Amino acid sequence: KKELLRVEHLKKYFTTPKGTLHAVDDVNFSIRAGETLGVVGESGCGKSTMGRAILRLHEPTAGKVYFEGNDILSYNKKQLKELRKDMQIIFQDPFASLNPRMTVSEAIIEPLLVQGIYKSSERAAIISRVDEIMNLVGLAKRLVNTYPHELDGGRRQRIGIARALAVNPKFIVCDEPVSALDVSIQAQILNLMQDLQEELNLTYMFITHDLSVVRHFSNNIVVMYLGQMVECAPAKTLFKNP
Ligand code: ADP
Ligand code: ADP
Repeated sequence: KKELLRVEHLKKYFTTPKGTLHAVDDVNFSIRAGETLGVVGESGCGKSTMGRAILRLHEPTAGKVYFEGNDILSYNKKQLKELRKDMQIIFQDPFASLNPRMTVSEAIIEPLLVQGIYKSSERAAIISRVDEIMNLVGLAKRLVNTYPHELDGGRRQRIGIARALAVNPKFIVCDEPVSALDVSIQAQILNLMQDLQEELNLTYMFITHDLSVVRHFSNNIVVMYLGQMVECAPAKTLFKNP
């Protein structure tokens, strides 16, 4: 399998009233296409900041990020916008990341228009693509005109996944995607994400504080502590007892 993402000496420092916070401090790893890298560590160790720095939702302080061999930290605004079609994020709290005044179909249409995949005049094509995406993430067709508050957490996260998938990305940062969900629903969403990975050949960076989630899901696992990478190893060597 080909390498899709390579991160070298990545750093993200924040200036705080108490001084410089080394939120991400010299992290190195690579992910091959179609694989999952699990990123674990206790709350506050820098997982989320690292995911956002890789996507340039935060500007990294130093280091390199190569996507398909290209140095994406050198990208200008126009190149970054193009890159958003390849790299997406799924957030922990689907309620917080959804506009309460947007219906399910509007929430899925938004990224299609923002990324210029369709013009708003191409109504038939948009409707059929929304149909296709809802089907992909297991949302019933009758839900197109419902609002987030009318849906349970699992369905809201399916909308979050649908929004990320709408632009046909190759790589998705999954930032605690099941941590806000009832335990009974977590498995459904994890199974969905695994099925989608196979079907669409997606590459995941899967951030979680929950080891039991990543041990089955990941090929390789990065363990972070206070912004630093303290371990990077195949899941099967980190967890010797199956
Ligand atoms: P995790 O995702 O592992 O819980 P985070 O990446 O959210 O950790 O946070 C890492 C550290 O960076 C924490 O100490 C957090 O308080 C700090 N931090 C995160 N975002 C900011 C910010 N925008 N400004 C200042 N500090 C931040
Ligand atoms: P938060 O509320 O957790 O800080 P936001 O939802 O406000 O995050 O999004 C932060 C940034 O991420 C914004 O610049 C937004 O355009 C971008 N963004 C939102 N959703 C996605 C997505 N699915 N993929 C990539 N970038 C996104």
